[in-house]
This record gives sequence, C-alpha cells and structure tokens, in this order.
Amino acid sequence: MRTRRIPPIACPHCGRTPRVRGSEQITPLIREVRYLCDNDECGHSFVATIEIVRTVRPSLRPNAGISLPVLPHLKPANDDGPPAANDDDAPPQPAADIN
Ligand SMILES: [Zn+2]
Repeated sequence: MRTRRIPPIACPHCGRTPRVRGSEQITPLIREVRYLCDNDECGHSFVATIEIVRTVRPSLRPNAGISLPVLPHLKPANDDGPPAANDDDAPPQPAADIN
C-alpha cells in the first residue's frame, strides 16, 4: 500500500503541528501546501513551500527540462583533471606462469 504523506511542520506561532488543508503543484520543482493550525487558541492558516533543490542520485529517466545541482561528492568522474598522485605508474604486470 502506498501512502502519500507531507512532512509535518510546526505552526510558527504556537508550535503545534497543523493539519494539511490542501496542496498545489506550482512547478515541477515546487509544491505549495496549505496548513491550518488546529490549536483553538491559535487558528493560524498559512502556506509553506516544498522545493526540490538538488539531486542525490541521478534519474534513470531524466527530463531535459529539469536542471538540478548534484551533491558534490556524487558528481560523475571527470578525466579532465590531473592524474591522482598514486596513478602515475603503469599497472603491475601479472606474475609469470610457472607451471
Ligand atoms: Zn498555531
């Protein structure tokens, strides 16, 4: 069973977790969520934004219209830079067959 849950957020005035009253996809990267605080002594209604900000693992079906930064340590290998300090020597040759 698949559940669709929106992450909880605290009411900025009283700190209680409000109810989600609805949401709307604004762009492929941005969704707005309407909240209503159910604290009878507060009753604050507000809108929060959920924004996709970067890629952790690239999509296997990328959308050409989406451009997101990739986490620095997960960028694809780049052969344009100098060789690594331990990558200057030719690889060791296999041992001769003595049989
Ligand atoms: Zn509140």
